[in-house]
Amino acid sequence: MVRLREEFDADRTESIMQVSEYPTEKTQFEVFCDMCGEVFFVDEITFEKVSHAFREGFDNPFVCDGCRGELDELAYSER
Ligand SMILES: [Zn+2]
Repeated sequence: MVRLREEFDADRTESIMQVSEYPTEKTQFEVFCDMCGEVFFVDEITFEKVSHAFREGFDNPFVCDGCRGELDELAYSER
């Protein structure tokens, strides 16, 4: 199902994704980074995407900015 992959494409949601290390008015939902396991707080839309992915049996789609930076470097070096 190609459509599902697109739905969870991090690049598409990045611009509207709210993430913080502590809960704020906009980020009250707890998620953990798939790579480092640190807890972060996200907005409701992002949380819905993460929990939906879990329910559907996908891997945790949430990766924090620090780990995503490393992922990007890996992705570039593989090309
Ligand atoms: Zn991380």
